[in-house]
Amino acid sequence: MKYEAVIGLEVHAQLKTLSKVFCGCSTEFGSGENTNICPVCTGQPGVLPVLNKKAVEFLVKTGLALSCKINGHSVFARKQYFYPDLPKNYQISQYELPLAEHGYLEIGTGNEKKKIGITRIHLEEDAGKLLHAIGNRDLDYSLVDLNRTGVPLMEIVSEPDLRSPDEVHQYLSKLKSILEYLEVSDCNMEEGKFRCDANISIRPVGQKEFGTKAELKNMNTLKGVKDALEYEIERQIEVVSGGEKIIQETRLWDANKKSTQSMRRKEEAHDYRYFPEPDLVPLNLDKDFIRDIKESLPELPADYTKRFVEAGLSEYTASVSASEKPLAVFISDAISGTGDAKERQDIANWVINELLARLNASGKTIKESSVSAEMIRELVLLIKNGTISGKIAKTVFEEMFNRGKKASVIVKEKGLVQISDESAIEKYCDEAISENPKAVSEYKSGKEKAIGALVGGVMKKTGGKANPQIVNKILRKKLS
Ligand code: ADP
Ligand code: ZN
Ligand code: MG
Repeated sequence: MKYEAVIGLEVHAQLKTLSKVFCGCSTEFGSGENTNICPVCTGQPGVLPVLNKKAVEFLVKTGLALSCKINGHSVFARKQYFYPDLPKNYQISQYELPLAEHGYLEIGTGNEKKKIGITRIHLEEDAGKLLHAIGNRDLDYSLVDLNRTGVPLMEIVSEPDLRSPDEVHQYLSKLKSILEYLEVSDCNMEEGKFRCDANISIRPVGQKEFGTKAELKNMNTLKGVKDALEYEIERQIEVVSGGEKIIQETRLWDANKKSTQSMRRKEEAHDYRYFPEPDLVPLNLDKDFIRDIKESLPELPADYTKRFVEAGLSEYTASVSASEKPLAVFISDAISGTGDAKERQDIANWVINELLARLNASGKTIKESSVSAEMIRELVLLIKNGTISGKIAKTVFEEMFNRGKKASVIVKEKGLVQISDESAIEKYCDEAISENPKAVSEYKSGKEKAIGALVGGVMKKTGGKANPQIVNKILRKKLS
């Protein structure tokens, strides 16, 4: 029996507001424990929440970018549960009437495009954090840090439209990139600003009904999500193939053991007893408020991709180029006002293949690059007009990266100008021919490839500076 996976995701992204969602405390990450707190976010009796307008704006922005319907009328709800990091014993969230619903996100490229439904996006507050010191004899207790209590989150729930860990990876990368483009979240997974729970079930290929799902938690990297899903698909297939049933439960991913462990069964699942939050009036948004946000939406990855394809980049290069905003802006700058499609594709290739690799290796971002968009454009131009060969260009690029100097300056300084003067090259060709009679006779007896050794000889003599096309042409003429 062949099985397919059915996956739906619940993503929590921290909104990039300066203050918390229902009080004026700072959202700064890494402040001293319990320094960003006040009576409201520590749940003191008699306090009242006041909604942060920016948080609503960011959520609406996200909803619009994901083609959601924005609910002009939405309601906050109390979700009750007890946990030591939740001083109020309830979390303010949204339940029946979220701010946004019925959207989608497109994954894949070319003919492989696929829409993943977005069920809903709602606004809620985060809980605090427990610091466990258990195991340390002198510190055998847990500490509570309430800095994160009341930090605004949006929960983005997808339809069960995803079919593989790879699709999940694409969905999450794309979603992260859109939120970064919108500047509504930093999406820093290490700081817990972008977290994902994955719901997964399997079913025999061809079956319409969904199987029983398990919910996976505790993955804190994109790779972790993929690994956890791959493990879980195998586990579920094994259970079902063994004639047993999947039970609905929450499972925790253990990145060290590379497996998921049962945390709680459905019968132990929380009953949150949601009810409308009595301390907040329903939220009614003005049409103008929504329209203004719509009109101020920035260019998104899909817009950049489209523009890049129109500029002549391949579909693949275009989508890689658009994957992160700073990269998209850099490539957009680098190709603007340049000659033809090939030149633009070459520029993008240099950025993606050479520049990004070097930046990664030295732990820098594209914003910290010593090589500017302008400098890449000049380098490609020098190759195009024959001043330097592609091979020399790599050496020049290395110098550009290390010293932050322009290609033309380095070429001049180091005397790297390509030799295209035929009479000069002819001299080197004669030498190469007389030094390598074996290659000559092989070539003459029909072994085309033997010419490579002679071209190599000339390149060696000229320190790689001879124009390879001209070398080839002259050698062939001399040997014919
Ligand atoms: P619950 O009531 O258990 O929270 P929901 O219906 O609200 O479940 O769905 C939560 C998430 O689980 C959504 O992202 C949804 O797409 C996904 N989901 C629902 N049913 C399944 C299923 N059978 N297999 C995989 N994912 C599912
Ligand atoms: Zn506060
Ligand atoms: Mg649910």
